[in-house]
Amino acid sequence: MSTWEDNVRRVVPYVPGEQPKISGIIKLNTNENPYPPSPMVVRKQMELNNLRLYPDDKAAVLVEALADYHKVDSDQVFVGVGSDDVLAMAFMTFFNSDKEILFPDITYSFYDVWAKLLDIPYRQPALDENFRLVKEDYYGENGGIVFPNPNAPTSISEPVSFVEDIVGHNKDVVVIVDEAYVDFGGESALSLTDKYDNLLVVRTFSKSRSMAGLRIGYAIGSKKLIKYMNDVKFSYNSYTMNMPSQILGTESLKDDEYFQETVNKVIETREWFREEILKLGFECPKSSTNFLFMTHNNIAAGEIFEKAKANKIYVRYFNRPRIDNYLRVTIGTREEMEIFLGFLKSLLV
Ligand code: PMP
Repeated sequence: MSTWEDNVRRVVPYVPGEQPKISGIIKLNTNENPYPPSPMVVRKQMELNNLRLYPDDKAAVLVEALADYHKVDSDQVFVGVGSDDVLAMAFMTFFNSDKEILFPDITYSFYDVWAKLLDIPYRQPALDENFRLVKEDYYGENGGIVFPNPNAPTSISEPVSFVEDIVGHNKDVVVIVDEAYVDFGGESALSLTDKYDNLLVVRTFSKSRSMAGLRIGYAIGSKKLIKYMNDVKFSYNSYTMNMPSQILGTESLKDDEYFQETVNKVIETREWFREEILKLGFECPKSSTNFLFMTHNNIAAGEIFEKAKANKIYVRYFNRPRIDNYLRVTIGTREEMEIFLGFLKSLLV
């Protein structure tokens, strides 16, 4: 009998939202932006050439552009293939103690997958009954901390003073703040990276910059943090970020007007849609993201999810403790949300 399977690293992978191949659907399940990237990005895409060459392993042009954009030094910027890649690298680099790392019980469901993959012990303090992080839960001894702000899938953000309190109580470990959704109304902790050399802020082009397909993520932190991350990254795979992503990501940063305009449209639609569903009896926390986290007393979330899908409307449902009666609904265009609203009304009559 062969025993090679005894030595296999066994993992239960993260399950991303569906990417259905059928046409004519309303896709509100993976927090993509309903608008295209900046026209400057679309134009630049036509000019791409030299695909036969390896990309710049250091992605220097994009790193410089991000440093300029955020007014930090270029050696304070790390880039990766989506923020998933950046976060995985950060886990690998910084979470190496025997102590448990901490992240909330309800949060981005990739964190526990990476922790298990990398054999990192972890504990998940419970959010309070209003789905808020409890800062005191993060004061004790630990091996590091990670949380999204705004949190997902709750959509709730905490002020930067809250983040500073947690970082201030944890100067002996690395604290990672995942700001995937911050552009839609959260307060960024970027300004704290000057003051705390153990704070890493992670961002993405996937949501507010409408570029999920290009897989661009980055982190900003002290020079020390970024050097340690690059040492790990370049010991693993040098050419991670492809050339089109480097060029088009840089182009996106040049068009701040379009960026602000798109983000504002999403926020406007979100606020309108939230008011409408509250009128229908849904409960839904105030969102600082491009999605809403909603529940109704009279109709089960799982049922809405299935029926919506049958009507070609895809939303996200997590069959997990505490949130199994909630839906996470990405904000689409006004027209898409009007159709979804009509569908919800038809369910509730
Ligand atoms: N963090 C959070 C909280 C997210 O919801 C997501 C999106 N799934 C990511 C990180 C990763 O996004 P990306 O890899 O596209 O940057």
